[in-house]
Amino acid sequence: MIAVLKPNTTIEQRNHLIDWLKGQNVDVHISEGKDYTVLGLVGNTSRIDVELLQSLSIVSGVKIISEPFKKANRKFHPENTVINVGGVSIGDGSLTLIAGPSSIESQDQIVDIAKKVKAAGASILRGSAFRLSSSPYDFQGLKGEGIEMLAEAKRQTGLPIISEIMSINDIALFEDVDIIQVGARNMQNTELLLELGKTRKPVLIKRGLANTLKELLMSAEHVMAGGNEKVILCERGIRTFETYTKNTLDLSAVPVLHELSHLPVIVDVSRSTGYSRYVEPMAMAAAACGADGIMTEVHNDPINALSDGASSITPEQFEKMSDKVRKIREVIG
Ligand code: PEP
Ligand code: MN
Repeated sequence: MIAVLKPNTTIEQRNHLIDWLKGQNVDVHISEGKDYTVLGLVGNTSRIDVELLQSLSIVSGVKIISEPFKKANRKFHPENTVINVGGVSIGDGSLTLIAGPSSIESQDQIVDIAKKVKAAGASILRGSAFRLSSSPYDFQGLKGEGIEMLAEAKRQTGLPIISEIMSINDIALFEDVDIIQVGARNMQNTELLLELGKTRKPVLIKRGLANTLKELLMSAEHVMAGGNEKVILCERGIRTFETYTKNTLDLSAVPVLHELSHLPVIVDVSRSTGYSRYVEPMAMAAAACGADGIMTEVHNDPINALSDGASSITPEQFEKMSDKVRKIREVIG
């Protein structure tokens, strides 16, 4: 980190600042220019409050040289993190397909979809029991009962399962869940992230509607700081001025996150555009740009789905999609 001091800074003010910085456990290198003095801060600068430093009357500007995320950073962990769940490896170069309904609606529904997506090439089953709904009148999910139904679908098909958590109070219910999902609206719920960091379960974090990739990586850092290194990043579209799609799928997130971090990157192609007819083309694009996995909402009867029917494809459409994305991956190697 570099702090540039204003030209009229007195030696006393400068020394006072340097003492304060040294008190934060960083070394300070002074470089005197004709008008400006530049302070180079060396060491672990993660505890320095950048805004506070910037706000000081003698500071003209602050530049951050190293990223605030350390454990998630590829610089300190060059090899890819591979996460293994129930015999499935995520992040090893393969393309993991995660499919299932938006919400778990009944035992028959989740088992039926699980069997169909498995036959069509999915290796992980998704389904929400706790829902972050846009309206209080929307379906709220089957809660603990839903998780039991998902676990039963796992027993019957052998597919590992992923489901969203909203409150750490529910963690005990996620015993049989292989990957815990943190939804886009909870991406910066740091209390939840820190608690998940105390577990040793893989955690998939979805990018918030208006969050930068750095903020997503800092959310991962919150989980990893607790010692849980099994984090998966998920791009699911961000809010822009565009209205023909529900969100704008920022596929550049995939190469950028791969460059910055060693963590696997999944693309949710249902949430991103909000419409089932765009799922297949965006899945192909996600496969082409090197995503470690694709998440898709699949429903046996989308028109009567209790949530997100508009973005859900049928098992037949999933089978076609699955076939196409695999071919794309074979071509690009
Ligand atoms: C979901 O995957 O069911 C979901 C609600 O996604 P998001 O948090 O990305 O909106
Ligand atoms: Mn949904």
